[in-house]
Amino acid sequence: MKTNILMIVISAALVIVMSFILIFVFSLSNPDGIKRLTMTARDVFSGTIRSNDIGIYYFIAWAFLTGTLVLITCLALSTNLARTVLAPINRLKTAAENIAEGELNFDVLTSEDAEELAELCDSIEKIRRRLKENAAREIEQQEERNMLIANLSHDMRTPVTAIKGYIEGIIDGIADTPEKQQKYLDTIYSKAIVLERLLDGMTEYSELELGRMQYAFEFVDITEYLSKLAEEYRTEIETHNLSFTCSLADKEMIVLADKNKLKRVLDNLIGNAIKYNKEGGNVMLTQEAVSSGVMITVSDNGTGIKKEDLPRIFDGFYRGDSARSNIKGNGLGLAISKQIIENHHGKIWVKSEKDEGTQIFVYLPLRRKI
Ligand code: ATP
Ligand code: MG
Repeated sequence: MKTNILMIVISAALVIVMSFILIFVFSLSNPDGIKRLTMTARDVFSGTIRSNDIGIYYFIAWAFLTGTLVLITCLALSTNLARTVLAPINRLKTAAENIAEGELNFDVLTSEDAEELAELCDSIEKIRRRLKENAAREIEQQEERNMLIANLSHDMRTPVTAIKGYIEGIIDGIADTPEKQQKYLDTIYSKAIVLERLLDGMTEYSELELGRMQYAFEFVDITEYLSKLAEEYRTEIETHNLSFTCSLADKEMIVLADKNKLKRVLDNLIGNAIKYNKEGGNVMLTQEAVSSGVMITVSDNGTGIKKEDLPRIFDGFYRGDSARSNIKGNGLGLAISKQIIENHHGKIWVKSEKDEGTQIFVYLPLRRKI
């Protein structure tokens, strides 16, 4: 566009300048130059040229010089236009070829000269960046899947190996007294329960992931609901030699919830606060009103979570290193809790300091009972 305007402006300027120069030169050499030149122009345009008129030569010279100069200018500008358009088009072509081959580590430079192509360059650059992000995410997801399979096979192999070992013990006669045999059978049974729990967790998790889990929502006074559960939790916590602090709101707060699913969440949060606690530690359950919702917090002053583990603890089958080595669990509790809370239109998040403790926050929106 810029070049087109430039071509018109420069051509017009050249015609005007050339006309002035020739009129000036003709006037110097002919006393009544302007008058004669006007007559010549009139003759040229009316087709009655007189070949002996000196003006005609000036007119031909004007037409030739002006035409040549306009042609040269247009050629120069067109060459420049072709160069400024071709360069970005070539860059775009290379970019498209690279993208088609899956090579995404380059920048599509924007075209400053040809503004019409700048938008196209920007769009292709956006496509390249998005594809690159998707490729990175895919690699990450593949790594997560591999890790998940590795973790799962580890979690399944441990009880299966134990079951196999104890059964061999019975077959080979190592458990040679009824007491020993009973002990072996008890161990086999407890290992089978570990496996069953893992499979139950996997089924529950995949049903949630696939959106197949059925919810039975009802209006629940969360204050009353928590105060009943708190008594159950107190007994459980105290049997682990931990203390329990409970601070609940003193007014009715209605949420729309599936009581069983919500219990599944709280069981896991309290269970984690017990499992990952320290000798003589404390578990705290609090409930408070926040803007248009209720906040339930489960806190402990236990082992805490490493900073690098924090972004992943809500992922399915993810367990912190220390948890993996000696504390029972499948790394599914928080992933399941997150799904359940989000299906209640709520939020769940964590705050934790290594060796100081962990706080898990659950926000649920309040509802008006109809
Ligand atoms: P599951 O709940 O399936 O029996 P789990 O307790 O290991 O197993 P999550 O409840 O999902 O799994 O927790 C994921 C990980 O987050 C845990 O393995 C642990 O590393 C860390 N974690 C969760 N809660 C706490 C806590 N209160 N204190 C310290 N670490 C925690
Ligand atoms: Mg758990």
